[in-house]
Amino acid sequence: MLKPQTWVLRLGHRFVRDDRLTTHVGLVARAFGASGIYIVGGEAFVKASIDKVTETWGGPFTVELVEDWRTLIRSWKNKDGLVVHLTMYGVPVDEVIDEIRSANKELLIVVGAEKVPKEIFHEADYNVAIGNQPHSEAAALAVFLDRLYRGEEFKKSFNHSKLRIMPSSRGKKVVSLKEEEDSGEK
Ligand code: SAM
Repeated sequence: MLKPQTWVLRLGHRFVRDDRLTTHVGLVARAFGASGIYIVGGEAFVKASIDKVTETWGGPFTVELVEDWRTLIRSWKNKDGLVVHLTMYGVPVDEVIDEIRSANKELLIVVGAEKVPKEIFHEADYNVAIGNQPHSEAAALAVFLDRLYRGEEFKKSFNHSKLRIMPSSRGKKVVSLKEEEDSGEK
């Protein structure tokens, strides 16, 4: 298991407008080694589309729709977890990533959509910038997780997947694990 374990808190999801991007934040979180995502104000079908990917490509990866981020952050701190807020106004990732990794505490990584409430900047243990230019929550999350796990996230094995990709220099090679079982391969 990757250490420290991470969960993502997606704030500020805007009805309809952010459906695709919030889904992408969830998919990035899963593919880059996080254990789950909490989505504030997200719709059930956003959760369903991330869950569907986990069902096909493996997990575990949890998706929870939450109403109240304050309660979540409070409980995270009460259990001695760390809250890391990704923002272009924060301190450069390379200045703090070793300290964050070596604390070895469960991390809640907060990403916004539009404007994040000021309170988050104070509640967070770390406000971390992935460069000091505006870009995207999906990109910021991917870079942060990759720096945290130093590339080890791509060696993670996903359990109970239905499909697996056989890396190939040309074309698409996808193995159905059901077929593997049927032919006695493992
Ligand atoms: N003004 C925002 C900010 O505070 O970063 C930019 C809004 S951006 C559309 C949405 C989210 O992407 C932000 O809430 C933040 O989590 C993430 N983000 C964008 N650029 C970032 C950067 N350079 N470093 C870290 N996170 C960033």
